[in-house]
Amino acid sequence: MLPIDSMPPRIVMANTPTPLQRMDRLSRKIGVEIFFKRDDFTGSELSGNKIRKLEFLMAEARAKGADTVLSCGGAQSNHCRAVALAAIRAGLSSLLLLRTDDPDHPPASEGNILLDALAGAEIIWITPEHYRQRDRIFAREADRLKALGRKPYIIPEGGSTALGAWGYVCAVDELAEDLKRIDGDEVKPTTVICATGSGGTTAGLALGARLSDFPMRVAGVNVCDDRDYFVAIIDGICEEFDRIWPMEKAAGPPAYEIVDGYVGRGYALSRPEELAAIRDLVRLEGVVLDPVYTGKAYVGMLAELAKDRKRFGKRIVFVHTGGLFGLFPIAGQFAELI
Ligand SMILES: *Cc1c(COP(=O)(O)O)cnc(C)c1O
Repeated sequence: MLPIDSMPPRIVMANTPTPLQRMDRLSRKIGVEIFFKRDDFTGSELSGNKIRKLEFLMAEARAKGADTVLSCGGAQSNHCRAVALAAIRAGLSSLLLLRTDDPDHPPASEGNILLDALAGAEIIWITPEHYRQRDRIFAREADRLKALGRKPYIIPEGGSTALGAWGYVCAVDELAEDLKRIDGDEVKPTTVICATGSGGTTAGLALGARLSDFPMRVAGVNVCDDRDYFVAIIDGICEEFDRIWPMEKAAGPPAYEIVDGYVGRGYALSRPEELAAIRDLVRLEGVVLDPVYTGKAYVGMLAELAKDRKRFGKRIVFVHTGGLFGLFPIAGQFAELI
């Protein structure tokens, strides 16, 4: 299915194909067939969706002769943790811009931050205000590194670029194979649902769906900002993708939907009902979601299905994009729930 000729080089690092698991109890409870694509199994320390994108981004960093990758994210960024670890495997150093309210008193070294530190990533703590001007800080740090004779390569937030989107274009190919094992050659209409945090996963899925030979819809549940914000970002990634890798089969822009309304208290801030939903799924299926992304997307999916059981058709594939390490720093918030 994939136009292999146009696929850019990658460094294989993710443990793929990841399992596609049918959630029998959940499916019965909700009345819709629900599978989880276990992208939390892409690795242990590399767990999650970011490593699929980083396979391509690290390959480009290497090809360009870089020796240091720069990236950015929230304090407990899964993406930055994956960057720090993947960089080592690609033979590179890493520098991370991490967002925190008070850079003079950064958060404790737990969860992803501990792994960043173990990986020896250079960490620069910046305020949310500076984070909004991160391009300037990237430029400043890149200049500083160049003056030291180093060769920097910048990976934008979440690795959500046209090149990074290839990770999820390939994941759709993988999913098609998974579903063919279940359905045979005639794969049933399927809606793929994921958390949308910086847009690259949703963009890659939408680009992959357009190329796929089975009926596939894409729905991203945004965990911050709003629909307009993500439509602009995702359309931008897709346009860039089409400009760099024009494909014959790709008539028109890719289709996807942003399911807005489930940001709750804000990015990386949890409501008790979100944490209760995480707990309930652990007890129902033995699957652990994260509080920042997959937990919110899951709550959004259930809420939409409660309003209309047919909302996403007869079959859903929920992409478990990882994030487990983000659960431990908020252990205290579960006190009343467990
Ligand atoms: C980053 C992340 C997402 C969101 O993916 P984007 O490509 O940034 O939209 C979802 N889940 C987890 C666990 C993540 O770390």
